Amino acid sequence: MSPCWRRPIRAPSVAEARPGEVSAVRRPGSAQKKVAVIGAGIVGIACAIELLRDGHEVTVIEPGQPGGEQAASYGNAGGLNPSSVVPMSLPGTWRKVPGWLRDPLGPLTIRWSYVPRLAPWLMRFLRAGSTLARVEATARALRRLIADAPERHRRLAEEAGVPELIERQGTLYIYPAREDFEREALAWRLRRDNGGQWLELSADELRQREPSLDRRYQFGVLDEAGGHCTDPGAYVAALAAHARSLGATFLEQSASAFRIEAGRLRGVILADGGEVPCEAALIAAGARSRDLAGKVGDRVSLETERGYHAVIADPPFTLRHLIMSGDGKMGLNSMRGGLRSAGQVELAGAGPRCCAIGCCARSRRSRATCRPIGSRSGWATARPRRTGCP
Ligand SMILES: Cc1cc2nc3c(=O)[nH]c(=O)nc-3n(C[C@H](O)[C@H](O)[C@H](O)COP(=O)(O)OP(=O)(O)OC[C@H]3O[C@@H](n4cnc5c(N)ncnc54)[C@H](O)[C@@H]3O)c2cc1C
Repeated sequence: MSPCWRRPIRAPSVAEARPGEVSAVRRPGSAQKKVAVIGAGIVGIACAIELLRDGHEVTVIEPGQPGGEQAASYGNAGGLNPSSVVPMSLPGTWRKVPGWLRDPLGPLTIRWSYVPRLAPWLMRFLRAGSTLARVEATARALRRLIADAPERHRRLAEEAGVPELIERQGTLYIYPAREDFEREALAWRLRRDNGGQWLELSADELRQREPSLDRRYQFGVLDEAGGHCTDPGAYVAALAAHARSLGATFLEQSASAFRIEAGRLRGVILADGGEVPCEAALIAAGARSRDLAGKVGDRVSLETERGYHAVIADPPFTLRHLIMSGDGKMGLNSMRGGLRSAGQVELAGAGPRCCAIGCCARSRRSRATCRPIGSRSGWATARPRRTGCP
């Protein structure tokens, strides 16, 4: 494959621009190219804005509404968390898996008919966390990507005219007891080694910060560097509108293949047979990226994981922080639409199947974490999950 289009477009560097400067910033030496961005989730849209900033001509290919329910970027927990450097696969993770699978409200579910397809990925996933050296390398790689995520998102939201969607109150991890926190010593060491700092909170201090938490939680850890988004779907939609105002063209289509001639990318082929002529393409199709990347010979170790959230409309309280529960392994966030709990992992492929278990588990967990609350609604989608460090 020609390096001209395989060359990765570097990660968004919103930090380099000041609010209001976006269209004026053109990096020296960047030759203008026609670039197709495939997918308008948070990754595609953030990259599109960055490409526009570099002076490129950008076409975004997306079959749904940017910010719509089809994308993981709509339904996530909204956490912008520099301490999220701990890979899911750690030494000894495999020992916990049977217990997780036995618990219907546990953090992991597998569709058994999918296991034969999943097996190679699962082996790579467990291998990625098999030694300390591997997880340390993954944590370092993640740190480089997310260290200043809350500040970058704050600036991006400000540029897009929606500064109110990004909050900077910190991330609060809650545990039934200090011993539960201590049992996660490796995770917290990885966070500390990668710049993480935190305040440890007694039961009283926890209650002062979040009065609505269930009494079961007696110990907390506050990472003040964390932030959260109060409406991830609206945020992506606002960024898409911003990209449009900077000159991006949007096509309501699916990308299905690539036209490559003499080792150079000439265009992205669309599902309806049309084509977007381009010199470079960025695959940001979330859980669907692996198949597209496979069409140009890139083998990406990406599995589709089903992600869930449940929303409790009009709860009688508002959480100040994004909350991560140590026992439930989920995020809780007071958003515009209500209290959202999210985070159960279901390995079941990306097919059109909605398992109600995930939504129910989220909802029952959030009831157990906070005071009794009202009616709920659920959402599920496919999300991308890598094995670990490339
Ligand atoms: C329940 C849940 C909770 C989460 N919580 C957090 C959190 O708190 N913090 C955090 O940082 N992350 C969280 N995540 C992960 C985060 O949401 C994802 O990593 C992120 O949204 C991925 O963005 P994306 O742009 O890669 O993919 P997506 O948002 O899925 O967007 C991909 C887009 O590509 C489009 N597409 C697909 N195929 C094609 C095609 N062939 N052609 C064109 N377009 C195509 C889709 O329609 C979609 O709009 C969570 C995820 C879930 C599911």
